[in-house]
Amino acid sequence: MSRAIELFARMHEVRSVTADERGHQTLTGDVILAVFGKVQHKMPLGMDLLMAKYVHDVPAVNRIIDVMATWLNDEPSKRKDLAMALSYVALDVFCDKPVASQKRQLAALWRKYSDQAKRSNRLIKGWQVKIKQLQRNLDSCETQTAEERLLSAINEFEALIIKERRRIDEYAQCQFLKSSTCPRCSGTGLILNTGECPSCSGHGLFVPSVDNIRQHLRHIGLGRVSDKLWENELKPWFEKCLTKLYVYSQDAATEIAHTLELEIRH
Ligand SMILES: [Zn+2]
Repeated sequence: MSRAIELFARMHEVRSVTADERGHQTLTGDVILAVFGKVQHKMPLGMDLLMAKYVHDVPAVNRIIDVMATWLNDEPSKRKDLAMALSYVALDVFCDKPVASQKRQLAALWRKYSDQAKRSNRLIKGWQVKIKQLQRNLDSCETQTAEERLLSAINEFEALIIKERRRIDEYAQCQFLKSSTCPRCSGTGLILNTGECPSCSGHGLFVPSVDNIRQHLRHIGLGRVSDKLWENELKPWFEKCLTKLYVYSQDAATEIAHTLELEIRH
């Protein structure tokens, strides 16, 4: 929970309060925790949403999913199964997680533009140059032993390259699961001296469009959805669901800020 406090505190301007340490009142971890407890009690869903988004709290995510299932009870929806699947997607979007169709794109960017990838690519290029040199030497080899020695050196460099490529692949796979921030511009949307980042079109984030969401339904094996069903039922539900998530979380964030302010004045 201490990590949660730290992150939440950073998020809700508590830093500006605790930073003011020259004789002014500061908020201790205990007070902040008590405030979170109060808000959790008063606005459980909103608080869970903040926990899910900012501290990736799994129990909070499970509670949110339970609540979202009850939202469908009052809906005249014909395809509640699809609507529920869309609720999960809405939660991912709310938590800034990329949808499947964007993951491949993101992984490719991590493989190319991250610092780790740049380092790996430099290493690989160096080994490729060495291999070329060795291959040139191979032509002028006079004994079989010398030739064998060169070949085994080449094999070693090739093995290093394969290993390094695999390492960077694993890294890329791992990164895009964590965030939808554009690796090329580090989420700024800008590239130094050139302007807008071409990979994310200046958004900085890979936020799925409604079209991405529709593709995503196909991707998770729910098949094609007719235009009519999509336009009349599913798209409005998705948008409604996402709006609710933002409203509930914003209310909780406001409540935290307000309650903390009261604590400071105390
Ligand atoms: Zn970018």
